[in-house]
Amino acid sequence: MPIAKHLDQTSTPAMTKASACDEHDPHWLSLEQASVRILDQADAVKDTQRLGLREALNHVLAENVRSPINVPSYANSAMDGYAVRSNDLPDDGAHTLQLVGTSWAGTPFDGELDSGQCVRIMTGAKMPSGTDTVIMQEQVQRNDTQITIGNGHMCGENVRYPGDDIKKDSVVLTAGKRLTPADLGVVASLGIPELTTFRPLKVAFFSTGDELKPVGEPLAEGQIYDSNRYTLHGMLTRLGVSFVDLGIIPDQPEAVEQAFLTAADQADVVITTGGVSVGDADYVKATLEKLGLVDFWKISMKPGKPLAFGRIKQAAFFGLPGNPVSVMATFYQLVQPALRKMTGETNVEVITLSVPTTSTLKKRPGRTDFQRGILHYNDNGELVVSTTGMQGSHVLSSMSEGNCFIVLPAESGSVEAGSPVTVQPFSSLV
Ligand code: AMP
Ligand code: MG
Repeated sequence: MPIAKHLDQTSTPAMTKASACDEHDPHWLSLEQASVRILDQADAVKDTQRLGLREALNHVLAENVRSPINVPSYANSAMDGYAVRSNDLPDDGAHTLQLVGTSWAGTPFDGELDSGQCVRIMTGAKMPSGTDTVIMQEQVQRNDTQITIGNGHMCGENVRYPGDDIKKDSVVLTAGKRLTPADLGVVASLGIPELTTFRPLKVAFFSTGDELKPVGEPLAEGQIYDSNRYTLHGMLTRLGVSFVDLGIIPDQPEAVEQAFLTAADQADVVITTGGVSVGDADYVKATLEKLGLVDFWKISMKPGKPLAFGRIKQAAFFGLPGNPVSVMATFYQLVQPALRKMTGETNVEVITLSVPTTSTLKKRPGRTDFQRGILHYNDNGELVVSTTGMQGSHVLSSMSEGNCFIVLPAESGSVEAGSPVTVQPFSSLV
């Protein structure tokens, strides 16, 4: 489906009026609508690569992984103790058994046990032939080459059976899964040294704005440091995509045009910050309209109302707002899910919780708010959330101090302290 051109909402009179007082306009896209449109156009990369197990961490699996073996592959002991035949377990009183050898992890006991015999066994060691039960060493009395066992034991206790963890030929990991540390361990337990993953997505990004200075240089009057490229660097690194940072582009038509083209030539996705709000939208808009198919959207979310989305050449394009909190909020809510889909990831689920707020949260009905909160335990040990304080889209310290978004639905007004609210922990956002 081509990028729709019909959604140029910047020209609706109602929106102009509403945006002047920073309220809400029914013509704006809801967050859900924006999300659906973006995800509809986010196509997964097709190319795959073989990666060594360690390198595959955080990459997305392109093929199912089937187990070539049972894990564990043989019955073994879950404890340090004595391997016995369950027929020798006493129903009441105690039995004394003869110790005939030791089964070490890696060096099994290779004899066969007769009735009345037992073997010293270590955790992970193979169960000797004829034995089916392990008695913990703390539960026997040992006297040189004899042990005495009391009653109350069960056949099969402290034994791990073949395939307990993973059955041979079963699908252990499904294509579309982002590989976690546990996944690497599971694959290693199958003896598989390499995995087929989707190639990483390549993202190019830059900041726009004449007022922006790179860190390390002194600020002149009216200038600010460019922080957006740092938050983007961090978020993209966490996401495991490869990226190129094209720096700060001044508000000059030729420079912006060149930067868009350079970015689109070397990446699957181009992300810019700044220049999409009402003040300078016309200027960036003109450049984008010349180069590609880009819509300018007003989205009913706060922070992060303006967003440009579309395509420049073959690259998907996200023009994020300039304000630093808006950049992070729009990235997490709209860009990241699309990037995850484009990297081949399926089943992207963000965990949310419902917890009481300890603060009164100011809000007007209209937009979905992503206020910054601190999720913590109160004196009664209950999980609660408190506001980080000032919620302006320029207050980037709120993202650093906070550990979650407090998500207030569009229709909601202010929320009284004590009421339950939905929170999205930052840690669940990759
Ligand atoms: P804009 O969307 O370009 O109008 O920018 C909105 C606000 O965000 C202005 O206050 C800008 O100075 C600020 N801003 C834009 N880009 C950045 C950046 N890269 N780092 C920090 N602040 C920025
Ligand atoms: Mg600007």
